[in-house]
Amino acid sequence: MSDNIHDHIIEVRDLKKYFPVKRDLLSSLMGVPQQWVRAVDDVSFTIRRGEVFGLAGESGSGKTTVGRLVLRLLEPSEGQIIFDDADLSTYSPEALRQLRSRMQVIFQDPFASLNPRMRIGEGIGHGYKIHIPSSASERRKAVEEIMEHVGLTPAAQLYNKFPHQLSGGQRQRAVIARALVTRPELIVADEPIAMADVSVRALLLDLMIRLKQEFNLTYLFITHDLATAKYICDRIGIMYLGKMAEIGDLHDVYKSPAHPYTEALLAAVPVPDPTDRREKHLPTGEIPNPINPPSGCRFHPRCPIAQQVCQEIEPELRPVEGNPDHLASCHLRTGDYQHLAPSA
Ligand code: SF4
Repeated sequence: MSDNIHDHIIEVRDLKKYFPVKRDLLSSLMGVPQQWVRAVDDVSFTIRRGEVFGLAGESGSGKTTVGRLVLRLLEPSEGQIIFDDADLSTYSPEALRQLRSRMQVIFQDPFASLNPRMRIGEGIGHGYKIHIPSSASERRKAVEEIMEHVGLTPAAQLYNKFPHQLSGGQRQRAVIARALVTRPELIVADEPIAMADVSVRALLLDLMIRLKQEFNLTYLFITHDLATAKYICDRIGIMYLGKMAEIGDLHDVYKSPAHPYTEALLAAVPVPDPTDRREKHLPTGEIPNPINPPSGCRFHPRCPIAQQVCQEIEPELRPVEGNPDHLASCHLRTGDYQHLAPSA
């Protein structure tokens, strides 16, 4: 399916986020040049309305920073984020405040996300109080309704509990309810089940899928876990060291990964088959320093098929086998240097 621009709820264009490295006083006085951590370095992608778009990669890939930039919790260094056809950089503070009710977030750690001194019902209704003019009784009704939707029942009793009185799964449901209570269009879910007990992870994912349908939601789903992404995502972007390595429909990327980094990540996903004794490991070597990333392709120091050109020229995202919806940034798998690919 090709992109129709009007299907996009989010368009990210040439996005960069560089964080300054802290210098000590002596370095400043001696004029040592400022260094920057290139957390996100020229990333572009779109999210279609109604889909689950996954962003995956190892820790340090920049995926969480992208999520925070989309939510405008961070200011980009360069680039644009278009939400519903409007550039977020043109929003006034008041327009951004109103936008918060249309974009919500689910963070990884529900304990850290919920105010320990606030009763669960009040915590869930906090955003509603800010964004939607309402009486206390209207707010309570809306909160109890959303609590029922996410399985926090009986809502009337749980409303007055404090976070520490709930189970881990219930706390994560409360965080989901808080995100939904203002009826947003987009939810950025950053490792939303990573801290949940293994026994409730599938239940939480099923809940998120059901809520997406009931509330016409779009998700930006950030995860380090490709097995989880496979369960819920429609399309996926694989990030490496601040760059997009590969992007496409989940089926295409998982069935025919084009980038050697994606191949390695997929090979490391455990399969529920005791007869499968393949060695599962991530690419060898450390992730390079994002302050001074490698020349050419950033993956070349870890890539098993790297050639000379990989150290010299940075690859661009290009279609894989002519498929405009499946892109990879690899000289040897797309573009002009495919003839250099070592034979299998
Ligand atoms: Fe590996 Fe070269 Fe492709 Fe980078 S461009 S992923 S180093 S083969």
